[in-house]
Amino acid sequence: MSHNRYPAAVDVAIVGSGPTASAYARILSEEAPGVTIAMFEVGPTVSNPPGAHVKNIEDPERRSHAQRASEGPGAGSQTVNSPGAVKSGDRLARPGTFLLPDGYAFPDEDGLPVGAMSSNVGGMAAHWTAACPRPGGRERIAFLPDLEHLLDEADRLLGVTSHAFDGAPFSNLVRERLASAVDEGRGPAFRVKPMPLAVHRREDGCLVWSGADVVLGDVTRANPRFELFDESLVTRVVLDDGRAVGVEVKSRRTGEIHPVAARYVVVGADALRTPQLLWASGIRPDALGRYLNDQAQVVFASRLRDVKAEDGQMAANGALSQQSGVAWVPYTDEMPFHGQIMQLDASPVPLAEDDPVIPGSIVGLGLFCAKDLQREDRVAFDDDTLDAYGMPAMRIHYRLTDRDHEVLERAKQEIVRLGNAVGEPLDESPFILPPGASLHYQGTARMGATDDGESVCSPDGQVWQVPGLFVAGNGVIPTSTACNPTLTAVALAVRGARKIAEELSTPLLMSESDNRMSK
Ligand code: FAD
Repeated sequence: MSHNRYPAAVDVAIVGSGPTASAYARILSEEAPGVTIAMFEVGPTVSNPPGAHVKNIEDPERRSHAQRASEGPGAGSQTVNSPGAVKSGDRLARPGTFLLPDGYAFPDEDGLPVGAMSSNVGGMAAHWTAACPRPGGRERIAFLPDLEHLLDEADRLLGVTSHAFDGAPFSNLVRERLASAVDEGRGPAFRVKPMPLAVHRREDGCLVWSGADVVLGDVTRANPRFELFDESLVTRVVLDDGRAVGVEVKSRRTGEIHPVAARYVVVGADALRTPQLLWASGIRPDALGRYLNDQAQVVFASRLRDVKAEDGQMAANGALSQQSGVAWVPYTDEMPFHGQIMQLDASPVPLAEDDPVIPGSIVGLGLFCAKDLQREDRVAFDDDTLDAYGMPAMRIHYRLTDRDHEVLERAKQEIVRLGNAVGEPLDESPFILPPGASLHYQGTARMGATDDGESVCSPDGQVWQVPGLFVAGNGVIPTSTACNPTLTAVALAVRGARKIAEELSTPLLMSESDNRMSK
C-alpha cells in the first residue's frame, strides 16, 4: 500500500544530513523558529541521537554494524582502518565509507582512486577524526570579511576544543619537539599547537566525538517544525521560472517518488553528490564540478625516544584513544602543507614481541598538501549511465601538476625531518597515499565574489542565477587548502543559513531580492 511520509510543502528543504546540512537546520531553528524544515538523507539512521559519531557506540559489534550500514552500495567490501594501512596499495575504503565502482580515473590522469563517500544520517562526520583547524594565509577566503566570526560560530556548532587531550601522556613532549623543529620565524597563529578537535568529555570522563548530532543540537531536535527523513534520496531540485521551488524525493523504503514544495532548497550532499544533484536537475553552470581538489597526503611513523611508561596507562586497540594526543603543525604559504600528528598506542608497523609499546609513544605523522587548483580537474556526469542510486554516474578527471609533485617532494622531506625531531622513525621512507585518501574534496560547487563563470555560488552559498537554491559542504570552499575542511565548510553554511533566515523573516525584502535575481 502506498504511504507518503513526506510533507507536501515546507519553507526549507535540506538535502543531506552531514555537518554542513545540519548547520543550516541548527541556525534556522535558532534564528527563524517559525520556519518549517525537512531534511532528506539517502542513508539510514545508524546511531542515536541521529547523526552521532559511531565511535561513541561502545559495543564493537553494534559499531561495526553502524559502519557497514553507512557504506551504501559498497557495504560488505573489505575496509582499512587507518590511512597508513592504504600502504598495501589495495584500493580499499575506510570503515563507514564506500568508493566509486568505476569512473574514478582515466588514461594518463591520476584520478581519485580512493575518493570516498558515506551514506548515513550524519554523513562522513559519523566516522571522521574531528580535527577542526582554522585556515591560515592563502587558505582563507579573502572576500569574506566575517570569516573569523563564522569560524567562531562553526566552533560553537561542532563543539570544538583544543583541550580534549590535556594531560595525555607525552603530548607536551611531542609538541615541544615539533616546535623546536618548526616554530622559528613563524607568527603565533602558525606555531605548533594542540589540534582543535570536535570532542567533549561526558560527566563520567568518557570522550564523546561530535557528529552531526552535536551540530543539530537540542534546539533543532526540540524544534517541532523540523523533521529528518532518512532513507530518502532527493532525485531532483524542482525549478519554476528559474527559481528553486521544491524537490523530488524517492523513498528508499517504498521506491515511490514524491514532490515536496519548498521556498528554499539547500543541497549539502557532499562535494561529489552536490554537483551530481544539480546536474540531474538541469542546473549546469560551467563551473559545476570543476576545480575539484583533494589534499595529497604523505604519512610516516616514528617512536618517541627517551620515554618511560607512566603508572596507570592502559593500552587501547591501536586507534586514537583517550591516551592519545593530536598535535597541529599549521599550514603556511611558504610550507603549503598541514600537519596532523597523532599519538597512537599501537605501532602501525610490526615491532618485536619483547618490545611492548608504551601508550602514546608511537607517533603517526600526516602532512596534507594544498593542491595546485586546475579548472580541468573535475567531477563530470554521464547522462547515459546511472550509479547505484539511479543518479547520473560520476566521471572523475584529476591530475597532479608538476607543482603538486614539487610540493609532495617537499612534504616528504619535511615529514622525515619532523619524524626525526620527535623520535626514531619506524618507516624506512614516507608514503604518499593514493589520491582521494584525504577524504577532503573541495571546489566542485565553489563560492565566488562575483558570478564570473569560475564559481557556482555567491558568498552566501546561493547558486548564481537560481534564486532559492543554496549549496553547502566542502565543495563550496574556493581556496586551495591543506587544513581539514569541515570547520570552514560549516562556517560557510552558517552564513548561508543566516541569509535564508533573514529573507524568510523579511518577506518584502525577499520578494525584492527575488525580482532582482530573476532579471
Ligand atoms: P557529508 O558529511 O559527506 O554528508 C553528506 C550527506 O548527504 C551524506 O550522508 C549523503 O548520504 C547525503 N546525500 C548525498 N546525496 C544525497 C541525495 N541526493 N539525497 C539525499 N541525501 C544525499 N574532516 C575534517 O575536517 N577533519 C577530520 O579530522 C576529518 N577526518 C575524517 C576521517 C574519516 C575517516 C572520514 C570518513 C572523514 C573525515 N573528514 C574530516 C571529512 C569530514 O567528515 C567531511 O568533511 C564532512 O563530513 C563533510 O560534511 P558535509 O555535510 O559536507 O557532507
